[in-house]
Amino acid sequence: MPIKVWIDRDECISDMVCVSLCGEVFEMSEEDGKSQIIAQFRVNDDVSQGVVPDDLKDCVESAAESCPVSIIHFEEQ
Ligand code: SF4
Repeated sequence: MPIKVWIDRDECISDMVCVSLCGEVFEMSEEDGKSQIIAQFRVNDDVSQGVVPDDLKDCVESAAESCPVSIIHFEEQ
């Protein structure tokens, strides 16, 4: 099942933990220096949300659990 992922970007402290743990899904924005979903997985061109294949669930989960401000969320679609 695909995984819906979203980031409450307003609260991002730009420490890059998610990118280190799951660079397949997350990257840092050159616009505002905050985490965003990579273009390939974005929904409606929104940098804060995406849908990823389920083989990336563990990757997303580890990023979500390690984000120091707990702003990465995911659920099975
Ligand atoms: S781990 Fe959390 S706070 Fe750190 S860059 Fe990623 S989304 Fe932002």
